[in-house]
Amino acid sequence: MVVVERRHVGAGASSRNGGQVLTGLKLDPATLVAHYGDTHARALFDASLESMATLEQIIADETMTCGYERTGHLQAASKSSHFDGFREEQSLLARVFNHRVELVPAGDQFGELGSNAYHGLMVDERSGALNPALYVKQLAEAAVRAGAAIVAETPVASVSRKAARWTLTTSRGPIQADELLVATNGYTTSAIPWLQRRLVPIGSYIIATAPLTEGQSAALIPKRRMVFDSKHFLHYFRLTPDRRLLFGGRAEFTQPTADTTARCAEILRRDMVAVFPSLAATPIEYAWSGNVAFTRDQLPHAGRLHDAFYAGGYCGHGVAMATYLGTLVARRMAGERFDHPLFDDHFRAIPLYHGTPWFLPIAGAYYKLLDWLH
Ligand SMILES: Cc1cc2nc3c(=O)[nH]c(=O)nc-3n(C[C@H](O)[C@H](O)[C@H](O)COP(=O)(O)OP(=O)(O)OC[C@H]3O[C@@H](n4cnc5c(N)ncnc54)[C@H](O)[C@@H]3O)c2cc1C
Repeated sequence: MVVVERRHVGAGASSRNGGQVLTGLKLDPATLVAHYGDTHARALFDASLESMATLEQIIADETMTCGYERTGHLQAASKSSHFDGFREEQSLLARVFNHRVELVPAGDQFGELGSNAYHGLMVDERSGALNPALYVKQLAEAAVRAGAAIVAETPVASVSRKAARWTLTTSRGPIQADELLVATNGYTTSAIPWLQRRLVPIGSYIIATAPLTEGQSAALIPKRRMVFDSKHFLHYFRLTPDRRLLFGGRAEFTQPTADTTARCAEILRRDMVAVFPSLAATPIEYAWSGNVAFTRDQLPHAGRLHDAFYAGGYCGHGVAMATYLGTLVARRMAGERFDHPLFDDHFRAIPLYHGTPWFLPIAGAYYKLLDWLH
């Protein structure tokens, strides 16, 4: 097996994400049930739990040291009506998904989150955290131990298929293959035009503070859980093992450049101080950005299209899911036949879209309006 990577291992989202290993999918449980009915919604949600179990198994089997911990996660209600929504979600999760979460009303939330910015919390003990750069590096090392060759700094310019053989045209010459898996996700280029028409890259931005004191960090997130809020334009944050606060979000619906990253870092710093006023004078030491890939139905997809295998569209929930769908696609490439709720050999393209997301400013304005209204 040969992995061809345009830059270096983890150059895409996998080394630069927030490292939150979360239960569930981008679509909340009520939307899953409304769109797909109880049984299919349960199967989709269960896929997220299976993805976490797969990730944990690989970390254990390969004795990886990537800081994986079952920290649990908090979802923070940005409005009091959102906490009412959490109550409904708690009973739906129990009834349809057999999944238990706890609610913490605003008056008690300081035991979990040192902020007055929220109206109560939903706590899910199952979620976890890791250091994504260490994880992707050690995943690549495990792949090499298992016999894979990784060819870095080698962009694929195009792919073609003749007489049941693939030819990849790369900057270092052609590569022939019997089977092809495209896993370029938010970094898909016109080398694979049919996948580009199905995945919308959207920037996600992160800042990291200077290391905090033990007292400061314990006051912010005492149990070191992963946190995100209940808005469409959401914030996600966590403490790192070296006690920085890492604070991220889709500060704008744009694609990352040096300019948008600098601008979004300032927006995120302002938002972080609104959540944690005690950090007003704390220096921001790092700011970075990356692409997440959205799909039309906000679900990940994997399967076979145009004779190639593909997996992607994790909508910002890909740390465990990309690994998991990778293992499932590999089994299918090896000839195994099975059904899976995220497998889709008929994944449809987005109408009027060819890789330039002209509609992002409109979508951004729409979601800002939804956040303001609800
Ligand atoms: C800022 C940020 C924060 C995030 N936070 C979280 C989080 O906390 N939790 C979570 O679950 N998910 C999170 N995500 C999402 C998660 O990181 C991704 O879903 C996941 O890493 C996708 O992995 P992947 O291997 O499919 O894609 P990637 O890691 O993006 O890899 C795709 C690779 O394809 C290569 N490539 C593209 N085109 C070509 C070509 N033509 N030739 C050769 N190589 C090519 C790219 O260079 C890239 O390295 C976040 C993403 C970002 C950007």
